[in-house]
Amino acid sequence: MTALYAWLEPTYQQIRHAFTQGHGHHALLFKAEPSLGVEKLIEAVARFLICQQENSEKPCTHCHACHLINAGSHPDVHYLASTENKDIGVDQVREINEKINQHAQQNGNKIVIIDGTERLTEAAANALLKTLEEPRPNTYFLLKTDITAALLPTIYSRCQTWLINLPSEATAIQWLQQQHSAETNEICTALRINYGRPLAALATLEQGLIEKRREFLRQFWVYYIRRSPLELLPLFDKELIFQQLDWLSAFLNDALKDQLGIKSGWICQDLARGIQQFNQHQNPLGLLKANQILQKVRSDLSEINAVNQELILLDGLTKMITEVFEK
Ligand SMILES: [Zn+2]
Repeated sequence: MTALYAWLEPTYQQIRHAFTQGHGHHALLFKAEPSLGVEKLIEAVARFLICQQENSEKPCTHCHACHLINAGSHPDVHYLASTENKDIGVDQVREINEKINQHAQQNGNKIVIIDGTERLTEAAANALLKTLEEPRPNTYFLLKTDITAALLPTIYSRCQTWLINLPSEATAIQWLQQQHSAETNEICTALRINYGRPLAALATLEQGLIEKRREFLRQFWVYYIRRSPLELLPLFDKELIFQQLDWLSAFLNDALKDQLGIKSGWICQDLARGIQQFNQHQNPLGLLKANQILQKVRSDLSEINAVNQELILLDGLTKMITEVFEK
């Protein structure tokens, strides 16, 4: 078993401790920030509960149960998730209920893992609730949901909730340093532009996006000085377009923070000098307007057929010039 992400380890240890002390809960609800790899934590808890090796801190990885779970074929581990972006229906829950009513095939624990608990239809949630209200011996539910998602209050009342928040910056940086050889300031930038999410930051580093962002914002500067959309338009990349808009938006937001004297929470700390230079000719209302234009571009791009991508971008870049920079 690979090591658990550093920011999930404390929660895993608390859960493990509770179970080894004999007061583990039969239904654990993981309410998590997105992109923190919580599925790994759930997998680790499932493995711990399914391993037949008593008293081990971690799953042993070599008993029969561990072998089966490694192969993804343990008959007493059941998964429920939304498929093809559809809600989880009552029939799917009934099917699981039937399975857990039978004896465990491996004489150990039975586990039900539900990914995207917020996708249960009301009927499905009620069917699940019945099962949660009458805990069966050796049967455990591991539920995952988004931190912002709303669930039926009755589901909460039957579960023990574990909140998985963003790790501290120090924890995230330390972990990233173990994964990637980039300089610390690049690691910090990667983390900030991904709003503190270490896995996304790692992807940014691995895809060389720090350098791409730098180039892109350098070209934004040329566009700004020359008042020419055609300086920036060719740099938009179909695969990166939303990230590129985020880079711009973060730059403008930090410029606004600078204008308002807000020193904390900057995303583009690496570009502080450039932002101050840019700001010599900006005012808060203009920066707000520029960001509104960007948000409109973003929503148009996500709604309208991609055929018009270039036109939407051109229109937005032109508006920023006429309605903000030349005003
Ligand atoms: Zn084992």
